[in-house]
Amino acid sequence: MNYSIAVVPGDGIGPEVTAPALEVLDAFGDAYGIVFKYVELEAGGKAIDSTGEPLPKETLETAKQCDALLLGAVGGPRWETLPGRLRPERALLGLRAGLGVFANLRPAVLLPQLRSACPVKDEALIAGNSEGKPGFDLLIVRELTGGIYFGERGRSADGNSAWDTETYSRAEIERVLRTGFAAAASRRKKLCVVDKANVLESSRLWREVAQEAAKDHPDIETSYLYVDNAAMQLIRAPGQFDVIVTSNLFGDILSDEASVLTGSIGMLASASLGSPTDPLAKNGRPMGMYEPIHGSAPDIAGQDIANPLAAILSTAMLLRYSFGLEKEAAAVEAAVNAVLDAGLRTRDIASRGSGGATEKIVGTKAMGEAVLKALETAPAAI
Ligand code: NAD
Repeated sequence: MNYSIAVVPGDGIGPEVTAPALEVLDAFGDAYGIVFKYVELEAGGKAIDSTGEPLPKETLETAKQCDALLLGAVGGPRWETLPGRLRPERALLGLRAGLGVFANLRPAVLLPQLRSACPVKDEALIAGNSEGKPGFDLLIVRELTGGIYFGERGRSADGNSAWDTETYSRAEIERVLRTGFAAAASRRKKLCVVDKANVLESSRLWREVAQEAAKDHPDIETSYLYVDNAAMQLIRAPGQFDVIVTSNLFGDILSDEASVLTGSIGMLASASLGSPTDPLAKNGRPMGMYEPIHGSAPDIAGQDIANPLAAILSTAMLLRYSFGLEKEAAAVEAAVNAVLDAGLRTRDIASRGSGGATEKIVGTKAMGEAVLKALETAPAAI
């Protein structure tokens, strides 16, 4: 089997966390005769420096030809003073829109090994959890190519007022809800639609469309929350959630909040998927873009202390959703579990309280090597 993967290491810690992620993919390639061909592309700050644009046309066109895209992170203080349309983050929006990846899947799970890195109390982690144990396992499905990040924006002539516009069409809402209902069907069959329907007209349309879609999914327990309440409920009782479907803006914020509950933003992977019927779909599978949810973390870049596990877990999602390699994806997840079981921690997931004595703080490279070793020494898992 041959697969081509567009790789955008990006800026800051992006290249540091992408390197071990690619090594993990290569471990499968070598062991099982799968050829992963990487096509390294520039986007973000690096592309601005070399071409003057955050997303060179060639990057997008080449990415479209590949079977999937893996991205590290883009951005940094160096480019912060550029006008909005020339900033590195525009590359993300351009890639997401250009590849048609409208549904962003962000799983957030509290691994038992990281309990002490989670800042909330046991009573919150037990509340809402049907098993009565401290923990949660939720999936945020964030709409990714519409809403306020893509709406009209501007400034008044005197520069003293500015606007951004939230616009959603019925079709945009319907397709991301389909992804949400499908995900819920394969999980605990609970879907929570998060909006601000008490204030925003666009949210009222979300709720209307969701209520119609819910009638076609009687097996799924569908609920609705305003985003302010959802933000509170995530801290108060995260175990009550299974799948959350929400808009681009609300999903961006809620998933960062959820990441803190898992111990660190360095643990959260994501998959952004298009439709299996899009022209860019490959072998009946949707186009996929995979990235850790964190940014380029300029404060820790170049120090070998970034957590590479979100990037590595993003390759598990890539194997699962783009190539249908479910067993291999599960093996990557098992290898991550194994290194955590062995007590290895990057600084961000080290214990905040007691329990630190059994932990060993390692850097980015050592953590990547440990995952590789866990994969190589447990081939039966594959
Ligand atoms: P950030 O996610 O880069 O960092 C937030 C905090 O989390 C920082 O303290 C950082 O050190 C820490 N952190 C992030 N990833 C980590 C990891 N893997 N291991 C350990 N600690 C980690 O968010 P920010 O500081 O708001 O943004 C920095 C830059 O990244 C900005 O230019 C922003 O626009 C950009 N950004 C890019 C993406 C992306 O490429 N997908 C996403 C968010 C932000």
